[in-house]
Amino acid sequence: MSEPTPDFDLAVIGSGGAAFAAAIRATNLGKRVLMIERSTVGGTCVNTGCIPSKALLAAAEARHVALDASGRFPGISTSAGEVDMAGLIGGKRFLVETMRSDKYVDLIADYGWELRQGNAVFAGTQDDPVLEITGGDGARESVRAAHYLVATGSAPWVPPIEGLADTEYLTSTTAMELQEVPESLLVIGGGYVALEQAQLFARLGSKVTILVRSRLASAEEPEASRALMGIFADEGIRVVRRAAVSSVRTDPATGEIIATATISGGQEEFRATRVLVATGRRPVTEGLNLSGVGVKTGDGGEILVDNQLGSSNGRIWAAGDVTGHREFVYVAASHGSLMVENAFNNAGREVDYRHLPRVTFTSPALAAVGMTDKEANEAGIRCECRVLPLEYVPRALVNRDTRGFIKIVADAETRRIVGITAVAKDAGDLAAAGVYILEAGMTVDQVANLWSPYLTMAEGIKIAAQSYTTDVSKLSCCAS
Ligand SMILES: Cc1cc2nc3c(=O)[nH]c(=O)nc-3n(C[C@H](O)[C@H](O)[C@H](O)COP(=O)(O)OP(=O)(O)OC[C@H]3O[C@@H](n4cnc5c(N)ncnc54)[C@H](O)[C@@H]3O)c2cc1C
Repeated sequence: MSEPTPDFDLAVIGSGGAAFAAAIRATNLGKRVLMIERSTVGGTCVNTGCIPSKALLAAAEARHVALDASGRFPGISTSAGEVDMAGLIGGKRFLVETMRSDKYVDLIADYGWELRQGNAVFAGTQDDPVLEITGGDGARESVRAAHYLVATGSAPWVPPIEGLADTEYLTSTTAMELQEVPESLLVIGGGYVALEQAQLFARLGSKVTILVRSRLASAEEPEASRALMGIFADEGIRVVRRAAVSSVRTDPATGEIIATATISGGQEEFRATRVLVATGRRPVTEGLNLSGVGVKTGDGGEILVDNQLGSSNGRIWAAGDVTGHREFVYVAASHGSLMVENAFNNAGREVDYRHLPRVTFTSPALAAVGMTDKEANEAGIRCECRVLPLEYVPRALVNRDTRGFIKIVADAETRRIVGITAVAKDAGDLAAAGVYILEAGMTVDQVANLWSPYLTMAEGIKIAAQSYTTDVSKLSCCAS
């Protein structure tokens, strides 16, 4: 019996970074593409993730600089008033709407693929999967495609802490819609969303306490956690490490949130007007009927994919947060185009995270690329590391902010750089430079002898490389 003719070459569930990258690439290849979105077009990054968070952080930084600059720069006098949170959120919404139109919605018409607003669920069989789409008005449609891409993203994960579900807890999504700055805020978690949101609200005027199970940014170098602890302490943010929150409740008399945590065997109570849960996100796969079409998922609900992003059903692919891979929009976008190349051009391209940059947009920021010291050791690399405090970086000196460091992890035998971590102003740009250094397989000696513009923070990478052979405290101008 002949196969039914597909209605589309590619049907994409979701409209975030992964979905858009796939749809653009497939349309460019002349494929007929259908995109299905049940909520707001654009997905997490533009609506509730990267864009709103960085827009608010930029505003909070402007306020922080205004409050802080007088102390840092002799002769300068600055001040900042109260925050009009409703105005700030209104401005953020306008930016989000503009970017959603320009960078997402308008592109659909420009490229010419089809969009359906509705919830997609797999039906049919493993050999002949179809998608059932239910629109907001209840209208149903059945669609058959040659290939399917599940790009349904992730959603905040709320741990099963006693009493938490009964409190009006915030997630990053709802926190960035608040109309008033909370007087005080408990943040549960220590990953990048927790750190960014904690500093955001502290800089807007909240008294913030972070309760973290292990240490801040626990996947990164321990020096980074220590540097961030110091930076947060300077800003009045209290960080409680090794705190396992066991219960959360609302004080009926005051309306305050009370979190009880176990710390070093003892119990301690923390109070605040609001609590923000930032304990990670989980892939959105519930209700998709993946098992019905032979798509296997892992313990966290993630779609299990091979290195080419194929699932256990040869016609169904997954991309972005739903794969359980690192949650960055550039990972999602890279997945989207890679999947299309593999599905339609048999490209056999594989995901490669060796030189994936990772940035936490606190200020100073934490950024890293390649391996940490520990990861290098675990990979059997005998490594030699250098940690350069920012007081040796002229840019930091003139900024009058030497909090932070640049760390290089190099293979002791070949002197090849295998990892770079920095806590510094605009550290993300250092990680971007690090991607090229690692990709080119450069050694510390090569980097130490390259051009680097004087009075950039990136010059710190060169100085850190020079520290392998030179006493950098004795360097004169221009690190030459
Ligand atoms: C607060 C925050 C800050 C962040 N900051 C950064 C940053 O600075 N830099 C960075 O690189 N990354 C950042 N991220 C991560 C980044 O936003 C995500 O990694 C990325 O957006 C994931 O894209 P995606 O395409 O996988 O999924 P998403 O963008 O989440 O899109 C999935 C879409 O699928 C839709 N969907 C789900 N199920 C169905 C269904 N059954 N039918 C129809 N539609 C469905 C959803 O409604 C959603 O719109 C941040 C995330 C958060 C939460």
